[in-house]
Amino acid sequence: MALNQYLKRVFPGTAEEYAKRAEQAMLSGERLFIVTANPEILMHAQRDPAVERLLLDPRTEIVPDGISVVKAMKMLSLPVKERVTGVDLAERLLNAAGRQGKTVYLLGAKEEVVSALAKKLKLQYPAITVRCRNGYSKDKDADFQEIKALAPDLTLVALGVPAQDLLIHRHLDEFPKGVFMGVGGSFDVLSGSKKRAPALFVKTNTEWLYRIAKEPQRLGRFWNNNVKFLREVKKAAQQKK
Ligand code: UDP
Repeated sequence: MALNQYLKRVFPGTAEEYAKRAEQAMLSGERLFIVTANPEILMHAQRDPAVERLLLDPRTEIVPDGISVVKAMKMLSLPVKERVTGVDLAERLLNAAGRQGKTVYLLGAKEEVVSALAKKLKLQYPAITVRCRNGYSKDKDADFQEIKALAPDLTLVALGVPAQDLLIHRHLDEFPKGVFMGVGGSFDVLSGSKKRAPALFVKTNTEWLYRIAKEPQRLGRFWNNNVKFLREVKKAAQQKK
């Protein structure tokens, strides 16, 4: 499927608009599955029909997390305002859940990371209910049974792309309500275990550069996904002309 098919489903408004929409969904008991799109998941969709299905599912809402996704949409003349970053959206939803005394499930990351985040939230928001489980158990579908029993208002899954999104999508039908989002490495940042890129990198949309400098093993993944992605988008844009 052409990248265009996924990109035209991506939210075109501002990060603030989307955060309000997601908060509202959580507070009103709507069911919402958010995919924070970067080139990696869009490239996966081209090789894995299950990823393609989840991106094209009308129940899925996609936001442009990576700057390359925003660039690609502009190149294809699709409406888009700015990045809607997963880590900021996750933080915003956690804070709203905390203030409103909602129920949150955190699945993924290392045990010390996810339990530190759960503890931090509980300290900050005594009225919140938080359950968590690390992302290294063998049977993550079984973990979802625990989530189902809790029926949380917000479920964040930090297992990396696309495992986290596939897992949520497989179980979405079992939930009448709740906001679900795959958040990649966000627990590492929100728990304070890993530093987010300094503000200058965030402002100039070069967080990816900071992450590669800190963790050079990311370079291969970056090349495979981002560079190939932009090459394909360029091709598609030329064909459109
Ligand atoms: N992770 C996990 N279980 C696994 C593999 C990864 O819980 O089997 C976690 C890992 O600890 C990290 C997150 O998934 O917190 C993925 O982070 P990464 O930085 O790779 O994701 P990105 O933000 O680049 O999508």
